Amino acid sequence: LEAVREAAGGVRGRGACGHPDGAARFTLSALSAFTDDLAAHVLGGGCGRGTAGVLPLPLPAGASAANPESAERLAVDWTLCEGHGLCAGLLPELVRLGPDGYPALADAGVPTHLRGRALRAVRRCPALALHLDKGADAP
Ligand code: SF4
Repeated sequence: LEAVREAAGGVRGRGACGHPDGAARFTLSALSAFTDDLAAHVLGGGCGRGTAGVLPLPLPAGASAANPESAERLAVDWTLCEGHGLCAGLLPELVRLGPDGYPALADAGVPTHLRGRALRAVRRCPALALHLDKGADAP
């Protein structure tokens, strides 16, 4: 959420027209008005309502129109994880380090635009603890 806030702040006043300013204001307003809800969705269980397929966005990798919730998800094998924290540095949008220094993963599936970086984090995990779980419909 902080990365989104910084990106929106960096856009203001830099467009050739007012459209980027409007989009940045909308984003910053939503972040301010829904801070707790957004935090709950990013790193918690959220409100329990389905979100995939609500907006006309590309489906995450592994998802299908029939089952938009079947996206790949990041998972940690806790018997292997040594708390290096490398994954949080490589993929801060989906992984945060908890107070114990171990990763806390976003509850949502891996969005298509982050799949490459998620695979990179998986490959670089020194303990081979991080992996992508495929959804039920994934090939
Ligand atoms: S990089 Fe691997 S071992 Fe290190 S915290 Fe992440 S999952 Fe655990």
